[in-house]
Amino acid sequence: MQVVWTIVSWLMRRKAYILCGALGMLIVYGATRNGWAAIGAILIAILPAFFTRDPVPAPLAQDDVTAEIASDPLFEVRAAFAGFDSPVFLLDRGGYVLYQNPSAAHAFGEFRDGQHVSARIRLPAVLDTIRETLDTGKTGTIEYSAMLPSESVYLVRVIKAQGEADYYVLIFRDISETRRIDRMRSDFVANASHELRTPLASLRGFIETLLGPARNDHKAQEKFLGIMQEQVTRMSRLVDDLMSLSRLELKARLAPQDAVDLVPLIGSVCDALAPLASDVGVEIVKTLPAQAVMVIGDRDELTQVFENLIENACKYGQDGKKVDVTISAEPDQPVEVSVRDYGPGIPDEHVPRLTERFYRVNVESSRSKKGTGLGLAIVKHILTRHRARLIIRSEVGQGSTFTVRF
Ligand code: ADP
Repeated sequence: MQVVWTIVSWLMRRKAYILCGALGMLIVYGATRNGWAAIGAILIAILPAFFTRDPVPAPLAQDDVTAEIASDPLFEVRAAFAGFDSPVFLLDRGGYVLYQNPSAAHAFGEFRDGQHVSARIRLPAVLDTIRETLDTGKTGTIEYSAMLPSESVYLVRVIKAQGEADYYVLIFRDISETRRIDRMRSDFVANASHELRTPLASLRGFIETLLGPARNDHKAQEKFLGIMQEQVTRMSRLVDDLMSLSRLELKARLAPQDAVDLVPLIGSVCDALAPLASDVGVEIVKTLPAQAVMVIGDRDELTQVFENLIENACKYGQDGKKVDVTISAEPDQPVEVSVRDYGPGIPDEHVPRLTERFYRVNVESSRSKKGTGLGLAIVKHILTRHRARLIIRSEVGQGSTFTVRF
């Protein structure tokens, strides 16, 4: 049916050519009485029809626009809300839907003409707010959370439109993203304070002991001062990491410009970490190409990335006794740097969350290994700025591979 309609509409748009063809055919047939000549005439006459484009509809003249507005009282409403990406409804004073924009149709389904708003919006709190605004004319606002299809938070407003007619505008604004960012920010502040509070509390305890019961106990003083030094170092590590993160956030959108050769960079990171590795009984085995492997990046930041990954591999993969660091730079393939350890590995459920701030698989193990829980978050920030990705593969009992793909 669709095909037939397409052909008919094509013929209609080219009726002038077809009329000329028919006329030509009659004339030629009248003059020659030859059927073939007549068919030739019609074919020649309609030939240009195949090469002409459909005319672009002329813009509406001012009068036509005015006429359209007059015939459709909601013309301006449609024009104003059609492009809105939030669902918008126009209701009459009885709560019947006069208009819904495409985004509303997408979110709640298409309302039939004259359907009441409660036919598709069934949230009691929203319906109560609508009813109240219809009764009082006062703007109503309500926030509601939907769990399906995904967790979302909407701010719903019902406003009486200005003007003579009794129209009410119902707007749904999706504020899930704002809420998510607010929650992340407050979680972050809570986590950072908690991380700082723990060593502070222990410092306070030791100071009280040193001023009180251990005032004259030199042995205890020495022991406590050693622990206090550790706690202070932990706090300054944490503050350094927090500062790093905030500096990176400030320049998140600025891509680095320098050309950096990864071969000497990775080589020197491995050499610098060799003493730490040998302290925990791990050997760092590098496989680096002979030729330069250039990427666009910031030397100091890339050093920080690989220091973090290799240090983690040594600390958490200590049992595997070996860490492989490999650069692969095949022609027409992305440059990759992999850090593989043979330690206990990471259970699947933790892997997607490792780059979150303060996320640790085991908090005590991280603390005992002088971790702040911010290392991989810093790595992710730096790599995002470098348009590079961190790929984490891990198998429990086999070890983990952290790959940076440029
Ligand atoms: P931390 O300062 O605690 O090391 P990171 O952000 O560097 O923080 O790492 C987050 C967590 O990821 C660590 O606490 C650890 O549980 C886990 N992790 C990181 N690297 C490895 C690895 N190579 N093997 C096992 N677990 C790891």
